[in-house]
Amino acid sequence: MIDLHTHLGGAVPAAVMWEILCDSGLQTEFESFDALQDFLTIDPGSITSLDDFVGRYFHASEFIQSSPHAASTAVYHLVAKAYRRTQLEAVEVRYNPVKRLRRGLHNIDSIVMATIHGLQRASTHYPVRTGIIFSLGRELSIDSNWEIIDTAVRFKRRRPLMGAHGLVGIDLAGPESLRNEADADWLKEAVKMVEKVRSENLGVTWHVGETSHTGPELMTRAIEHIQPDRIGHGIELRKATGKQRERLCELLRENEISLEICPSVNLVTKSIGDISEIAELVRFCHREEIRYTINTDNPYLIHTNLQREFEIVAQALGPDAKLLEQAHQTAREVTFLQP
Ligand SMILES: [Zn+2]
Repeated sequence: MIDLHTHLGGAVPAAVMWEILCDSGLQTEFESFDALQDFLTIDPGSITSLDDFVGRYFHASEFIQSSPHAASTAVYHLVAKAYRRTQLEAVEVRYNPVKRLRRGLHNIDSIVMATIHGLQRASTHYPVRTGIIFSLGRELSIDSNWEIIDTAVRFKRRRPLMGAHGLVGIDLAGPESLRNEADADWLKEAVKMVEKVRSENLGVTWHVGETSHTGPELMTRAIEHIQPDRIGHGIELRKATGKQRERLCELLRENEISLEICPSVNLVTKSIGDISEIAELVRFCHREEIRYTINTDNPYLIHTNLQREFEIVAQALGPDAKLLEQAHQTAREVTFLQP
């Protein structure tokens, strides 16, 4: 199995985060392991939206992961845990390097180098191929996002070491309520960023269409301008109707763009009401010949793993569960970890 969509900020167990925190000697509001574990054990019923989810946890998890030692340890344990749970073949880990600098206390190169080393160590200890995707931030300034792009170019993959591919692509993440794709100036700048990384042979994936804030209209706009290789979520496709639906399906098919579906997190953030909506989307994708994969998003925070994500969709699909075999094949084809 291959996980193409997992965020470092939501994938590291509380025990590891606690060790990192204690070793770093940082002053935080978490005075005991239990306090940190309580914080990182989410109550899905209390989450109201994607913005709420992103705003509640990540400032703390990203802060704790913000030193070279912390970042290296965090990526290592993400891979080790995923392998022990699900015998993962490969994982692409995404994170925002600018959010791990403790407001300029650390330099970006030291953080990136530490995550590269952490993943090399993980791929040496476990038979898992790994790669890094940098997430740009919807809420960050254009300058900060350019810093991420320039860093991606500096650290772009050279040759894999053991199974560790290093930096393989970029992403856009953050609160969809900002609706960045509706802003022509923002989009123009984003296109330049994407052109730059693409000319360096890096992959492009893009969170859009996860919530109704970026529904079918902005999903279409993102594809027309950015032409990502893959889309993070894109589940708003299910709400498109008539001509809009035809156009969106045509764009996804013609550009061979695959959706990175992450079922459980959509349920937690109330982007869907029930997993049956994902099952219906899977059936729709098969009918329309649109490619998709199944992924975890934030496996620790939402108590899941890749095996479980497949199981819950299979259960909702019932007799159509065999359709999911295609998702495994697609993940092998669209991963940025190509030899
Ligand atoms: Zn995501």
